[in-house]
Amino acid sequence: MENRMNVQSRNIAATPAISITNLTKRFGGHTAVDNVNISVPPGSFLVLVGPSGCGKSTLLRMLAGLEPPTEGEISFGGKLVSDGQSGVMTNAAARDAGLVFQSYALWPHKTVEGNIDWPLKVANWSKKDRAERIDEVLKFLDIEALRDRYPAEISGGQQQRVAIARTIGPRPGILLLDEPLSNLDAKLRVDMRSELMRIHRATKATSVYVTHDQVEAMTMATHVAVLRDGKVEQFGPPDALLLKPQTTFVATFLGTPAGNLVPVIRNGAALSFNGIDLASADLAPGLNHAQLLYRAQDMTVGSREGRPGLKAIYVKSAPIAGQSMVTCLIGGLRVTAMVDGFFRAEPGAEVDLTFLRAPDAIFNTDGKRIST
Ligand code: ATP
Repeated sequence: MENRMNVQSRNIAATPAISITNLTKRFGGHTAVDNVNISVPPGSFLVLVGPSGCGKSTLLRMLAGLEPPTEGEISFGGKLVSDGQSGVMTNAAARDAGLVFQSYALWPHKTVEGNIDWPLKVANWSKKDRAERIDEVLKFLDIEALRDRYPAEISGGQQQRVAIARTIGPRPGILLLDEPLSNLDAKLRVDMRSELMRIHRATKATSVYVTHDQVEAMTMATHVAVLRDGKVEQFGPPDALLLKPQTTFVATFLGTPAGNLVPVIRNGAALSFNGIDLASADLAPGLNHAQLLYRAQDMTVGSREGRPGLKAIYVKSAPIAGQSMVTCLIGGLRVTAMVDGFFRAEPGAEVDLTFLRAPDAIFNTDGKRIST
């Protein structure tokens, strides 16, 4: 008996909160989501990130039950909610999922309280439970003072808080958020990011968050899926993606500043760029061409004894945490390097660019990582 219970509890723990299998969405001849496979455990904060048009919103809409998949399956907590093959598609409420969109879409003729109350009513909560829950979420989101106002009488940031309160009211097990902060100004975005993380910790709802902002992705996520042309380019914890990008796309999309990719050719026993030997050719066995990844912090301006370097054209500099983030051009190649303290030069001036360390990773010309 005890053994069976152990097996059972282990199985429950192993059931992913969200499991996406071979998921594809085609609009006519266009494949918006292309054979996506992702699985996350309960309580995860999954961020879908990628450039405009890569399929993030379409994927989220399929998770929400707003869009049927062309092929593949979605399961929440082991329960099939969408199946392209059989056409199964349960609606958002039956999925125990709450949605927060970029446009707050509050009901304009209901007060803040009325907006929060409505989904609870729809879910058949009793009057007493609703009243208690409304008080609770108003307090939780610090919007008690707005209770009797209408959406037109509160600011954009406050409207977004009400939209979040309305969504978390019925305590959904899964929260789906599509660029919820993109209409807010920069300062409010940062504040609301912390707020959403607090909400996530408190509700423990498994969350899926769509953004094209990689800083948002890296600060909030437990898991990140980088999408490109409908495909998952790489999936994993944010630090794994930053430290071990599997493709040049990921290496140059994530990180602040993003990594530098230097194209090299085999030159005898070395890989060289513009006639300067940068690394051993053993790092790219059998290849005549490759791409080396150098982090900005692994490059600097000013020559260094014993380190390879070349001439570059200064473009601009931005201060960041006691250092300067310097952008230079070597021919058509744009490179970012870090310099201690304050550094500035005349745009167009020639500077010495130095490679301080060995490359962080090596990729083939198709953009696939070949180093471990
Ligand atoms: P953004 O960051 O700009 O919102 P996204 O990554 O969310 O972009 P999607 O909105 O998912 O991208 O769109 C993916 C692709 O599918 C795009 O090429 C888009 O034009 C196309 N697409 C999305 N919805 C439809 C639709 N209903 N009919 C036809 N094509 C669509």
